[in-house]
Amino acid sequence: MDKNEQGSEAKVERLNFIEQEIEKDFQLPKLQGKTLATRFPPEPNGYLHIGHAKSICLNFGLAKKYGGTCNLRFDDTNPSKEEQEYVDSIQEDVRWLGFEWDALWYASDYFDQLYEWALQLIRDGKAYVCDLTPAETRDYRGTLTAPGKESPYRNRSVAENLDLFERMRAGEFPDGSRTLRAKIDMAAPNMNLRDPVMYRVLRAHHHRTGDKWCIYPMYDWAHGQSDSIEGITHSICTLEFEDHRPLYNWFCENLGIWHPRQIEFARLNLSYTVMSKRKLLQLVQEKHVSGWDDPRMPTISGFRRRGYTPESIRNFCDRIGVAKFYSTIDVGVLEGCLREHLNVVANRVMAVLNPLKVVLTNYPEEQVEMMEAINNPEDPQAGTRQLPFSRELYIEQEDFMEDAPRKFFRLKPGGEVRLRYGYIIQCQEVVKDPSSGEVIEVHCTYDPQTRSGMQVDRKVKGTIHWVSAQHAKDVEVRLYDRLFLSENPEEAGEGKSFIDNMNPDSLTVIHAKVEPSLVELPAGTRVQFERNGYFCIDSVDSQPGQPVFNRIVTLRDSWAKLQAKGQAD
Ligand code: ATP
Ligand code: MG
Repeated sequence: MDKNEQGSEAKVERLNFIEQEIEKDFQLPKLQGKTLATRFPPEPNGYLHIGHAKSICLNFGLAKKYGGTCNLRFDDTNPSKEEQEYVDSIQEDVRWLGFEWDALWYASDYFDQLYEWALQLIRDGKAYVCDLTPAETRDYRGTLTAPGKESPYRNRSVAENLDLFERMRAGEFPDGSRTLRAKIDMAAPNMNLRDPVMYRVLRAHHHRTGDKWCIYPMYDWAHGQSDSIEGITHSICTLEFEDHRPLYNWFCENLGIWHPRQIEFARLNLSYTVMSKRKLLQLVQEKHVSGWDDPRMPTISGFRRRGYTPESIRNFCDRIGVAKFYSTIDVGVLEGCLREHLNVVANRVMAVLNPLKVVLTNYPEEQVEMMEAINNPEDPQAGTRQLPFSRELYIEQEDFMEDAPRKFFRLKPGGEVRLRYGYIIQCQEVVKDPSSGEVIEVHCTYDPQTRSGMQVDRKVKGTIHWVSAQHAKDVEVRLYDRLFLSENPEEAGEGKSFIDNMNPDSLTVIHAKVEPSLVELPAGTRVQFERNGYFCIDSVDSQPGQPVFNRIVTLRDSWAKLQAKGQAD
């Protein structure tokens, strides 16, 4: 705790409630000579989502801050829903977020020890084998307002319990026929203390222990004891486990083993998305998305593929902090953190999403000039590149308007605009498709005295981006929007589900014209298409020389910014 004690005076107000508790606890005799030990305990039954990122940043972050340790532990007590694929993806995601665990464990590593401890509780008269069916067990449990009823099997002798439990393990009884329960209090106001089930009979192949076991520990029986075995000092979990804390404590106390402290915080909810693994699995299985890593998914792998940076997610988790009360965070906060980081790290490039041909009628036919373009105005180290300029160019359709209002400062008949890094051009003629009347080409003249960097006494209000037609590459661009139309997709109304709230236009595929430098970039590269947003080369569907771009996020207020820049150009 040395590191913190030194800085604690200055930092005291900024400690979150968990840090405050931790600092208090380390004053206690129990923790003298120890260092903070936390863990991140995912169940390998799905891919991690942004809510898990909050827990990861919190647990690993605390360990880092206090010079302690953080383990990764797979809570694999539910064999039927767990798979190796999930184990692998979870490790990849934690590492991608920038964290490395001190030790990697599985709850299944502790199955033998848990079994021994179960025998100990039986011997102490604190656990019994119960023959009630699952439905009867539920009935006997009572309700929040009515006490439960004691099981008729509650007072079996220790010898009988030991015998039955060993035979449960040996596979003598069918699935669901018997359970091992802790003998606590069927009248406890907290339902979790009404003789909770510790083991059930379940013949299911386990991804690590194979067919060794036909009884599996329940979450409550496995979790605290796993924490204890690993010497965890602070077991941080989400609020729905607050009511489980008395049971967590009961098991540790009655076994007489190391007793970590459980602290709960509010789980992250984000607007315009769903976050439970069950719902995310449904999106995948029913093919509403292309997979767990679909760039619209709120999974870590989805965000990664979309082009989010680990820094932006860590920063987001930091910014929202931890609290004891539920709230929903606006997804705009996450996007804000993302833009902030991409603004600094992403090179600017030219890409035209909806191309319109511009011909510079007074520009020599065969001429090509190389224009020097700044890669990132936020980062001088990023340098410059050469951008080919020629007689025929593409600009955005939206940057030309035939019947433009007075305040339209882009290209219009007779009007002038500056081409970024190029010249000032003036629109002379509009060529239309004779049958549809659609504008297919705009003919302009350029002013050779206005090349970017020259002293020009003339000012034009607008600057637009472009690509040279003969040099441009055709690429696929995927424009992503929110996956759900409503802020809280789970509130779908009578007889509907969150699926009914999906946005039918969450993906638009277009073909864009981009500057030639872009086709050589490796998958995963993030760039800013000037004035259009941030884009990332898709790591799954891109081919060498044929990148596919994912829109990571739009630019906020891009136009106003460029207006200002254009005038300074
Ligand atoms: P879900 O309910 O989304 O399926 P879970 O809680 O079942 O998630 P686990 O794999 O058990 O998922 O979670 C691992 C850890 O991540 C737990 O400590 C859990 O409390 C935490 N966690 C899960 N979801 C969130 C969230 N939305 N915000 C913060 N922490 C979360
Ligand atoms: Mg869970």
